Amino acid sequence: MSSNGKSLVAKSLAERGITRRDFLKFCTVLAGALALPSRYGVRIAEALESKKEKLPVIWLEFQDCAGCSESFTRSYRTSAAQVVLDLISLNYHETLMAAAGTHAEQAREETIKKGGYLVVVEGAIPTQNYCVIGGKTAEQILLETVKNAVAVVAVGSCSSFGGLPKAHPNPTGARAVTDIVKDKPVLNLPGCPVNGENITATLAYYLTFGELPAMDDLHRPLFAYGALIHDNCPRRAHFDRGEFVREWGDEGHRKGWCLYHMGCKGPITHANCPLILWNDGTSWPIGSGHPCIGCVEPDFWDRGIYNRVKPQEEAPPAYYPPTIAKNEKQINGTSYAVTGAVVGAAVGAAGALAVAKGKGKKEEGDEKSSDES
Ligand code: SF4
Repeated sequence: MSSNGKSLVAKSLAERGITRRDFLKFCTVLAGALALPSRYGVRIAEALESKKEKLPVIWLEFQDCAGCSESFTRSYRTSAAQVVLDLISLNYHETLMAAAGTHAEQAREETIKKGGYLVVVEGAIPTQNYCVIGGKTAEQILLETVKNAVAVVAVGSCSSFGGLPKAHPNPTGARAVTDIVKDKPVLNLPGCPVNGENITATLAYYLTFGELPAMDDLHRPLFAYGALIHDNCPRRAHFDRGEFVREWGDEGHRKGWCLYHMGCKGPITHANCPLILWNDGTSWPIGSGHPCIGCVEPDFWDRGIYNRVKPQEEAPPAYYPPTIAKNEKQINGTSYAVTGAVVGAAVGAAGALAVAKGKGKKEEGDEKSSDES
């Protein structure tokens, strides 16, 4: 409860000129972003409105570029999203806090002493004594800071998986938070940088349910990293039709065709970028004509940004079109399969034969695709 008797949310709404109705609408959208049924919107709103104290947060930075901090501070698609951020107390953030030196360290130490706080980590952790602050190594600072924390959130690919600092040959012995913190719940929000909207959604989930959301085996929340980019990509129809960009600026590029041949990692990358987009929902890399670089997956820097992946590596659908140019006159497996199905419906046994032929042809296409990749 704030000093004037209003709840933290009511005060924040009044200060920002947001109606409760708009706040409820935002919470319903938030429920959708968290892959929850829309009725959870009211539950989220009520849980946030019941908060009497802010959640203390310590934000640590190690080997990073501060891009995730930048992304976080710009994560306001709606002003109602700021209300969620008004429910946290950012007690320590090396880049954003006004205090420095001893005063800054006091803020961190006092928060640790009180306990019940959340630790956010940005950047990989060097383990070869490359980063020593006040006589303590990065590893020591991390372990000391998480001591009384309720949970740890690793933001960005560097803290989640090691990122660029860990890329070959990894001269600083960079490691991920999960390599070092073993006795606390850790959630990874990878991305280079993290999408700030996913931080807001994670905080809202934690403030509502008092625990971290369901995760995959890489500690990523399923609501944000549960689906492949390829499966929600607006260029997917072009992939399925075998319409590919071959060169920057060619006809396919101008027409918005699939970027698979330009190295797109969408077929092996789990993220909600096509759904929530970037820059306040205005665009995203594939939308602006650049292939996905797979920045939310481990070791993406070592994969080579423009190297092609094999779509067959992950959850292959029933068929893949051959990845050759349309004018190369190879009949692809998709058209054979569709033809086969139509004929099959019309003439029974004859159709089944056509489908079988189509299947054989499809496998040729797959071999081609595989060879090329
Ligand atoms: S390969 Fe990339 S551009 Fe093509 S459909 Fe998949 S995600 Fe979209």
